[in-house]
Amino acid sequence: MNVPAPLPESSTGTPGPVASGKVWLVGAGPGDPDLLTLRAARLIGQATVIVHDGLVDPRIMALAPPAARLVSVAKRRARHTMPQEQINALLVAEALAGNDVIRLKGGDPFIFGRGGEEAEACKAAGVTVEVVPGISAAMGAAAAALMPLTHRDAASVVSFVAGQCKGLTEQNWAGLAGVGRTLVIYMGVATASAISEKLIADGLAPETPVAVVENATRADMRVLRAPLAGLANLVEDAHVRGPSIIIIGAVTARPDSELRVLALESEL
Ligand code: SAH
Repeated sequence: MNVPAPLPESSTGTPGPVASGKVWLVGAGPGDPDLLTLRAARLIGQATVIVHDGLVDPRIMALAPPAARLVSVAKRRARHTMPQEQINALLVAEALAGNDVIRLKGGDPFIFGRGGEEAEACKAAGVTVEVVPGISAAMGAAAAALMPLTHRDAASVVSFVAGQCKGLTEQNWAGLAGVGRTLVIYMGVATASAISEKLIADGLAPETPVAVVENATRADMRVLRAPLAGLANLVEDAHVRGPSIIIIGAVTARPDSELRVLALESEL
């Protein structure tokens, strides 16, 4: 079983070089602690050092032993997130000092989480790294809102796109959305207006159904819907502030998802 091993003791009893610890890139899922993998829950429960970002639910952080050292690299009010290079350096330094490090990240470490960069930095420094996958926001939102990302009658292609990236509007959106396709946009609320304009300019019908899932799998989850042309107004009028994904395509208008959304709206 893959759990952090205790450090080997020097056989001579004299202090030798400190054995390097290991870095675990662990996916914390979209919020609900029940959606952690067993491996993630076990590693968190045995952790000595946890380096975590802001999207990790406090209920998940509460699984760490009281003695664990928790290091936040999250955005705090006016301050900026710790630069990625600094996070990489921190992980490497902790491991080289002999600590096993749990690097806890929202969703899946390898979906828009910069986990690839952290893994590369560790490998370059000779630090062993292991990845524990997590449920990405798209899967969490799809399940919680009863919106299958693929459906025999609606979509056989799914694309995950980051809505906040360099050259957003130069990106070729053709082929990502349309008949038979589901487009999931992470980090897209701030750029929703530009995204919807670009998609419509690239030929997508303005009435294409869209759902915005905010705080997916959490108690305060909201599922909001609009035609593509109304996306920008929707996120503005509904004051969407929590982590949200935008799902574009026919799967958001299936009868099942409709029922679920109506049920949620009546609870609000
Ligand atoms: N690695 C993460 C994504 C990190 S990028 C994953 O696999 O899910 C951060 C973005 O993820 C947010 O801007 C938002 O678009 C999305 N996200 C994360 N948690 C979410 C949640 N609970 N509900 C909706 N979207 C979420």
